[in-house]
Order: sequence, then structure tokens, then C-alpha cells
Amino acid sequence: MVESPAAAVQELRERFAAGQTRPAEWRAAQLRGVLRMATEMEAEICDALHADLGKPKTEAHVHELSLIKSSCLFALKNLKKWMKPQKVPAKLMNFPSTARITPEPLGLVLVISAWNYPLLLSLDPVIGAIAAGNAVALKPSEGAPAMSSLLAELLPRFVDGNCIKVIEGGVKETTALLNHKWDKIFYTGNSRVGRVVMAAAAKHLTPVVLELGGKCPVVVDSNIAAKRIAAGKWGCNNGQACIAPDFIITTQAFAPKLLESLKNVLEKFYGKDPLLSADLSRVVNASHFGRLKGLMDEEMVSDKIVFGGQRDEQQLKIAPTIFLDVPLDSAIMKDEIFGPLLPILTVDKIHESFGLINSMAKPLAAYLFTRDSELQNQFEGAISAGGMLFNDTSIHLTNPYLPFGGVGESGTGAYHGKFSFDAFSHRKAVMNRGFAGEARARYPPYSAPKLKI
Ligand code: NAD
Repeated sequence: MVESPAAAVQELRERFAAGQTRPAEWRAAQLRGVLRMATEMEAEICDALHADLGKPKTEAHVHELSLIKSSCLFALKNLKKWMKPQKVPAKLMNFPSTARITPEPLGLVLVISAWNYPLLLSLDPVIGAIAAGNAVALKPSEGAPAMSSLLAELLPRFVDGNCIKVIEGGVKETTALLNHKWDKIFYTGNSRVGRVVMAAAAKHLTPVVLELGGKCPVVVDSNIAAKRIAAGKWGCNNGQACIAPDFIITTQAFAPKLLESLKNVLEKFYGKDPLLSADLSRVVNASHFGRLKGLMDEEMVSDKIVFGGQRDEQQLKIAPTIFLDVPLDSAIMKDEIFGPLLPILTVDKIHESFGLINSMAKPLAAYLFTRDSELQNQFEGAISAGGMLFNDTSIHLTNPYLPFGGVGESGTGAYHGKFSFDAFSHRKAVMNRGFAGEARARYPPYSAPKLKI
């Protein structure tokens, strides 16, 4: 019998209150369970990713399975260290005393996941929540139905299903879940729903992590960067990735060279007819296909296509498509593209890119290709973004020592590595006083001669 969401939440709360999720042994056992699931169920997981997104097997392994495995291993390796209270100095005015910061689990965590990396975006936050000792409800995305039902089936077989639950559903079910009181909500998805989640959380003063998206710019100064741009754009879910390059800014002088190398690379990657390539994911569903078609067909940009443009509505496939010099007020330059379309904007001098980027909402990632270290420094100082990567795209997310998260409209809070543990922990300030050491001035009556206490 399928458990009702309300009953599931109730059980999670009771299990957490009973202290079931706190011991290091419980946390480690769950992390090992997730690791085992990602190892033993590889074939089923790859099939689900293919059913939902036409995701090539290599991408499924490299971008989802291997990242989940390394997150588990990293947490297992560091768990004891992360859980340990951290001693801090004491001040003379507190003498005699010791002080420490003790991480404690927050309690009941809701993870709401998105469809584009439906395994990674579901399990990676769950790994952090488990490591920090919380009870967890995972709500996978209905946009990736095969992965959603696979997670619901598999997770309870590999982890403690009383304390870690998968609750499937769409808007209606998520809205109902958001009415409950949680101790943390971790949401991945678009910023419109991010606002809905934040408003629901505010009713209970529940803290949130919002992993949102945005238009990630790639500034290309003078280096041929085509392979790494193409891998971060079309090699990541065919552009349906939160840190995929959204648009390029380069100089008018360099644009022809860049375009030429992008075309060459794309032909090498996907052949003469990319719609036939098995190495390119499809668009997730008809609604997103229609949205992308609308962007391509808008009158002011449809004649700006300089490469690609092929599409197949039946199979939900769109080829890598490059536009040159689209107007800034076109739809493709307004919202996050989240698909295989890539506009290139040209400027006279590369520094003009700074103003252009800063006139838009803060992106989740900003990329710059250059050998000029002075330009790198200026870019780092001038551009606010969730993350920044020089001379490559996307791979900064694989370094667990870097926080992954947005700023401004691209999100709030961060995770990965120890940041995941911190995202789901409260840092409790603890002071332990000795009984000696009274400061007389502390006690009234302040003006009268001091009494011996
Ligand atoms: P989605 O459609 O899967 O929605 C995300 C989640 O929100 C789902 O679980 C869905 O059930 C829930 N949801 C949808 N409407 C809701 C509502 N009205 N009320 C409550 N819950 C609701 O995914 P999406 O939003 O299309 O995801 C794409 C966006 O996510 C892009 O903007 C992308 O950049 C961003 N993203 C960010 C990251 C990141 O790590 N920062 C990762 C992936 C995607």
C-alpha cells in the first residue's frame, strides 16, 4: 500500500525525534546504501535516463552516476571529521570557560528535485542531508517520470525507508508537501517556482536552499575555446543544464574564427546530421520543444541562425543551433534558454562584456576564455555569479571543495562536499563555564558597595 504523504511526514518526524538518524553509524550505513544503489543499479538508472531524456550512456555515467558515487565516498571519508565539534578560543571575560561549535541536524528535510539531471539533483542533496543526520523526504521531478518511479522503487531497498522517503508527484502533491512544516527545504528548479517555495517556507520560518538557473555568459577573448564550450553546452543534456553556456560574447574581430571552430567541432561531435546522433540528448517534452521552437522562430532572430536549425518535432530533437548578433530585446536574450540554442553577441572591445553581463540578473556561472591574467582579475572583480570558471565550462561543479550555488536570482545557499553537510546542519554555539571566576561588576546592585556572593 502506498503511504500517504501526510503519514510519511508524520513518520519522518517521529523517527527524527526518536534520534534514529543521528548516530554516525546510521549516517554511514545510508551513504553506503546510496553508493551501492548507484553501483548495482547502473543499467536500470541509465535506461531511465534514456527514457526521460534520450541521455547518452556516457553522459549518464560521467554526469550523474559517477558524481553520486564520488559524493558518497567523499562524505563517508569525511563524516567523522565533519560531525566533530570544532573548538574555538575563549575570551578572558568568559574565564574560566571552553567553547565549541557543535553541528547538529536540522530535523526534517524536504528535497524537491528537477528533471534535467534527475538522479544527481535528487540524490546529491539527499547525501548531504543524510550525512548531517536528518530525516529526508525526496520529491523527484514529474518531468522525468521514469527516474521518479525508479527512485521510489529503489531507494527504500538500499536505505532506511522509515527515515528517507520518496514522495512522487507534480504541482498538486508538491504544494501539499509545502504546507507541512519542514526544518529545511532544498529546491532545484526555475526561479518562478523558487518564489513559490520561498513563500511557503516563510509561513513556518523554514530556511531554504534554492538552486535556480539563469543566463550563464561565456566571454571569449582571443582563444579558440570551441571544444570546451561545445562540451559544456551540447555535451551536457543538449543544453538543458543549469550551468550550460547560455550565450557568448566575443569581439567582432574574433567572432568569425570562433564560429568556424565551433562549426568544425560540432561536425566532429555529432556528424553532418546531428538529429541522427545517439550522442545528443533530446528535448525533455513537447512543452519545452514548443518553447524552444518559439525562440528560434521569433521574427527578429530567425534570420540570425548561422549554424544548425534542424529539428524534429516527433522525436523532440533539436540540433545544436548558433545565432549571430541577435538583438538584446529578443526573447532568446531575455530568459534562460535551457536548450541547444546558442547566441553569439559581438562587441567592439572585450571589456564591453562586463557592462552587458552586469545589466542582466546574476548568473549561476560565468565563464571567460583568455590567456590575459589581468583580464581574468578584472572579470573576477567585476562580475557577480554563483561560480566562475576560466578557460573551460561546467567542470567547476565537480570540485567538492567549491560551494555550488547561485547568487541573487540564480539562487541562495550552496552545497557539494562539506558545503552539503553545512547546508543541512545547524552550527550550535556551545560554551562550558567553570564555577570559579565571578566578575563582581556583573551583579546588581551596581552602585552599592559589592556584596560577597
Ligand atoms: P521541474 O519542472 O522539474 O520543476 C522542479 C520541481 O518543482 C519539480 O519537482 C516540480 O514538481 C516542482 N514544481 C513545479 N511547479 C511547482 C509549483 N507551482 N509549486 C510547487 N512545486 C512545483 O524543473 P524546472 O523548473 O523546469 O527546472 C529547470 C530550471 O532549474 C532551470 O532554470 C535550471 O537552470 C534550474 N536548475 C538549477 C540547477 C542548480 O543546481 N542550480 C540544477 C538544475 C536545474
